[in-house]
Amino acid sequence: MSTGSPFNRVEYVLARLSLTSPHDILWVNNTRTSQESCSIIFPSGRIPTFLLSSDQSHTLVSGLLLLNGFAFLLDAMNIQDGGLEGGCTCRYIRYRLASKPLIVHCCHCTWCQRETGSAFVINALFPASDVIHLNGEHEEGKQEPVIVNTPSLSGKGQRIARCPKCHVALWSNYPGAGSAIRFVRVGTLDSPHVFVPDAHIYARTKVPWVEIPKDAEVGVFEEFYDTEMVWGKDVDERRFKVLEGIRSRRAAAGGVDGTSG
Ligand SMILES: [Zn+2]
Ligand SMILES: [Zn+2]
Repeated sequence: MSTGSPFNRVEYVLARLSLTSPHDILWVNNTRTSQESCSIIFPSGRIPTFLLSSDQSHTLVSGLLLLNGFAFLLDAMNIQDGGLEGGCTCRYIRYRLASKPLIVHCCHCTWCQRETGSAFVINALFPASDVIHLNGEHEEGKQEPVIVNTPSLSGKGQRIARCPKCHVALWSNYPGAGSAIRFVRVGTLDSPHVFVPDAHIYARTKVPWVEIPKDAEVGVFEEFYDTEMVWGKDVDERRFKVLEGIRSRRAAAGGVDGTSG
């Protein structure tokens, strides 16, 4: 992760903490060491629960101060150490995420349940160019995943990138969003707790014992959501680019939603 500009570093910290709208950001220049330090201030109701965890191995910050309904994340730049990296179980494939996710889905569809052997999957969506391949740990150079064509709910199939050795699934591409968007399996991150789902999708088929938190950032959807509506609410340059791609693909294919499976 390039930490050159303060902007990138703040973006990075926010992504790491799944915070989208800080109340304020304070930069302090330490004249003695000429090092900049940064504190991020946000409403205390929005503190990610893992920050409050007593499990020290999950503590990512050097200080969290609660005051008058606000939380002050002190010296937040410490969080940049190590980067947002992930990989497969045998560590043959390693990757680094270079930006914050476009959105984080928790998918409760029966296809994801079957493919993961679990109750749901959590996918963080990234532009493919922001998923940087790193050197694997067993061989020289960057190792590439194998692409496995797999049936999907829409009938159009998905392309799952898997480690060629241990076969763990790292990310998927769906036809609607195309190869430009990777649905990264959040469970393959070294710190999978950093991304909290924004949207719960296919809630219609959620297993009965899973309770969806009431404060899901974007919402809970019985099936897939209308991408134009949900992304359009908080559109930035990156999302706009993806939406444009989806629109043109949809026009060519005749109306199927772009980011759905
Ligand atoms: Zn592997
Ligand atoms: Zn699914």
